[in-house]
Amino acid sequence: MENKQRVVVAPGDGIGPEITEAVVRILQAAEAPLEYEYIEVGLAAYEKGHTSGISPEAWQAIRRGKCLLKGPITTPQGKGMKSVNVTLRKTLNLFANIRPCKAYSPSVASAHPGMNLVIIRENEEDLYAGIEHRQTPEVTQVLKLITRPGTENIVRYAFEYARAYDRRKVTCMTKDNIMKLTDGLFHQVFEEIAAEYPEIRAEHQIIDIGAARLASSPELFDVIVTLNLYGDILSDIAAQLAGSIGFAASANIGQDFAMFEAVHGSAPDIAGKGVANPSGLLVAATQMLVHLGYGGIGERIKNAWLCTLEDGIHTPDIYREQLSAREVGTQGFAEAVIERLGREPRILRPVRYQNRPIQIQRAPQKPAVRQLVGVDVFVYWDESGRDPNVLGKRLEAATTESLPLMLVTNRGVKVYPEGLPETFCTDHWRCRFRTTGAGVDYAEVLTLLQRLTAAGLEVIKTENLYTYDGQPGYSLGQGE
Ligand code: NAD
Repeated sequence: MENKQRVVVAPGDGIGPEITEAVVRILQAAEAPLEYEYIEVGLAAYEKGHTSGISPEAWQAIRRGKCLLKGPITTPQGKGMKSVNVTLRKTLNLFANIRPCKAYSPSVASAHPGMNLVIIRENEEDLYAGIEHRQTPEVTQVLKLITRPGTENIVRYAFEYARAYDRRKVTCMTKDNIMKLTDGLFHQVFEEIAAEYPEIRAEHQIIDIGAARLASSPELFDVIVTLNLYGDILSDIAAQLAGSIGFAASANIGQDFAMFEAVHGSAPDIAGKGVANPSGLLVAATQMLVHLGYGGIGERIKNAWLCTLEDGIHTPDIYREQLSAREVGTQGFAEAVIERLGREPRILRPVRYQNRPIQIQRAPQKPAVRQLVGVDVFVYWDESGRDPNVLGKRLEAATTESLPLMLVTNRGVKVYPEGLPETFCTDHWRCRFRTTGAGVDYAEVLTLLQRLTAAGLEVIKTENLYTYDGQPGYSLGQGE
C-alpha cells in the first residue's frame, strides 16, 4: 500500500468546519493518498486560554505533519490575543505567499474574463521587519531589509511554481529605478535565476507601471513575483479584480512547513446554514496536492470543480438566474464535484499540473571582499535657521584627514557643498565622510565620532560604508 502523506487539518471557526468537511470528502473521493490529523485552532483554543489560538497539542501535530490545511479563524477581540495567521506565518518561516487570481467566465460573472494570474509575494522581509525609529523630533524611519538568500528563495520558488503549473511567464516587479540597492538586488537575483529557466519567459516591470497595467489589463500577466509590501497591495488589487471572494485561495510556503487556506474569513453571518461556498478551501487543497507532488490528483479535482461551475451548479453566493442551472448548499456542491471526478471542462480551460513536489535548492553563497571606506553620520541639528553652510563648516572643522567630508544631504537632497537655497531642510542631516584612499580602519571612524561629539554635534545614527569586490555597498549621493 502506498505511503500516505500526513496533513494537519484545522477546520477553524464559523463556516470553517462545513467547508472543511466538504473539501475532505472530495479529497477522499479522489483517493488523494493523505492521512488527516485534525487539530483545534481559533476560538476554541483562545477560550481555553491559549493566547496564540493554538494549543500545545496542535503545535506538536503541526511540527509532525509540516503541511497544514486551515479553515478561517474568527479574529479574537480580547486584549493580548495574537492572530493565528500571523503566528503561524512567522513561527513556521513561511517565506512565500501564493495567491492565484482567476476569472471563471462565462460560468461565473467577471469584469475581466481573461484573467488568470498568480501573485507570489515574499512574506518575511522588506519593510515588514518592523524596525522603526523616531530619530529626531521631526523624522521617523523604517528599515527596509532585503537579503540575497531571502530573494533567491522567493524568486526560485516563482520559477519552480511556473514549471509545476505549466505557466509560461514570470514578471518581476520592483522599484529599482529609485531603490537601486534593495530593489536592485531583488531584480538582479531575478535575472540570475531566470537564466536557469530558459523555457519560461522572464520580464521586469517597475511596480507603479506594473500595478497600473495589472489594474487595467490583468489578462497580460501570468506569474508575478515581488517584494512583501508591493505583493501585499497587488494581491488585494488582483483579488478584487478577479471577483468572487469565495473562490480565492492562498498558500504560505516555507522550507520545512506549508499552510493552505481560503482567503475569505469565517463568515459568521452564514455559519451553520450549510450554504457556504467551499471553493476557496478546495482550490487551496489542490495547491496543497501540487505542492506535495500529487499534481495528477489536484488536476482531477480542479477539472471536476471547473465542470461543476460550468454545469451551473452554484452555491448562493455565485448563483445568477441567467448563468446558473441549480442552486446547491455546501455538501450538495461537494457531491456535484465528486460526481464529475474524471471529467474535463468543455468551456473553461482544463488545468494541467505536474507530479513533482515543488522544491527549491539553496545556492551556495559566494563570499565578496569587503572593505570599509567611510561612514554616513546622521546628526540632529536645529540651529542657525538650519543653514546647511553653517553645519557644513562645523563638520569640516571637526573632520579628520583620513575621513574628509564628502557631502551633506537632507531627506536625500544634497545641501552642502553647493546646495540650492530653495531646498526645505528638516532637523535630520546625513553627513558622508569617505576616505580618498583604499580603505579605513574602524578606529578612525570612532575618532571622527568623538571629534564630532566634542564639537557639540549630536550623532543619532551611523551607517558604515563598505565596498564589496570594489563596488560601493551604499547609494551614491548627487555629484559623487
Ligand atoms: P468574511 O470573508 O468572513 O465575510 C465577508 C462576506 O463574504 C460575508 O457576507 C460572508 O457571508 C461572505 N463569504 C465569505 N466566505 C464565503 C463563502 N465561502 N461562501 C459564501 N459566502 C462567503 O469577512 P468578515 O465578515 O470581514 O470576517 C469574519 C471573520 O473572519 C472576522 O473575525 C475576520 O477577522 C475573520 N477573517 C479570517 C481570515 C482567515 O482566517 N484567513 C481571513 C479574513 C477574515
